[in-house]
Amino acid sequence: MPVLAYIHHLFNADSCHVYIHTLRWKDRPLQCPRCQSQDVDPWGVYHYRPGCKRYWCNGCKRTFNDLTDTLLHQSKRSLAYWILATFLLCLSCSSRRIARELGVHSCTSYRWCWWLRNTALSYETDRQLAGTVEADDLYHTAGHKGQAKGGGKKSLGRRARGRRKKREPGRGHYDKDRPAIIAWVSRQGAVVIQATRDFTVKTVQKAADLAMQAGSRLYTDSASSSRALKGYVHDYVNHTRKEYARGDVHENRAECLFSLLKPYLRVFRGISKCNLPGYVGFFQFLRNFRQQNAFEQVGLILRAALDPTIARKARRGEFVKYLDHFDLLQSAIN
Ligand SMILES: [Zn+2]
Repeated sequence: MPVLAYIHHLFNADSCHVYIHTLRWKDRPLQCPRCQSQDVDPWGVYHYRPGCKRYWCNGCKRTFNDLTDTLLHQSKRSLAYWILATFLLCLSCSSRRIARELGVHSCTSYRWCWWLRNTALSYETDRQLAGTVEADDLYHTAGHKGQAKGGGKKSLGRRARGRRKKREPGRGHYDKDRPAIIAWVSRQGAVVIQATRDFTVKTVQKAADLAMQAGSRLYTDSASSSRALKGYVHDYVNHTRKEYARGDVHENRAECLFSLLKPYLRVFRGISKCNLPGYVGFFQFLRNFRQQNAFEQVGLILRAALDPTIARKARRGEFVKYLDHFDLLQSAIN
């Protein structure tokens, strides 16, 4: 369905609430978010928030509504703001752009973006590829943007180097502010993208075990770390000999994915390396649900955001910890 079929709902507060109400209770039983009792009765609506349904719980003798304990709970902004913010996020806008378009403070949109991104990551934590998989690696410059202690214009204790760090020669490494990004692209459609500290044999082996089922068919380039992989039916093309495809053996899908990932990351004008897994993970979500349009992706994200358990974890940033492979892989090396 085209976006136009959804967007007119945004102009009416009632239809926004109907949309959220449907998303929240569509495939979950109507139950109290506090005591999980299903013995609930309707309890009118709010004067100041038309359309938001209220319920009385006979178990804990308290009221709740469609938004209680969700990611949108106690937000001063109306639902149209939230739906539009999620929509713009799925169109890969930066948080500053969203702040400008919605007319909210940039701190608000930054917070929302992280919560919503983290919520989307709940779909990606257990993803593992099977079948035929292509893999490639990339080093991406990511420094300390926004990581000054206390924020603002405080002294960093070093010379400021501007947003875009000059590239050092040689291979990248987390400590050189150029962590590696490894992409695993299944020919059946799904992708897994991991930000890792480096591209050594041990890191790649560990990353492969997380991304793919054992015994999958794997095609890579001739990088020595890829060639040393164990546990997969492996073949590679030799780029130094100008060999890019040999029959079925190529990794063009992985290269293509990077050509999409790079402009996606450019939008943010420099990324802190501690935030890189979150951005990369959200891009993975967008790629894995690319058959759906932005509003259908909004539906997916908000459906997860309306689950109290997922909302609590998303606010704490717990899903991104599953996808943060910097420390995980380091502990595997030590
Ligand atoms: Zn209750």
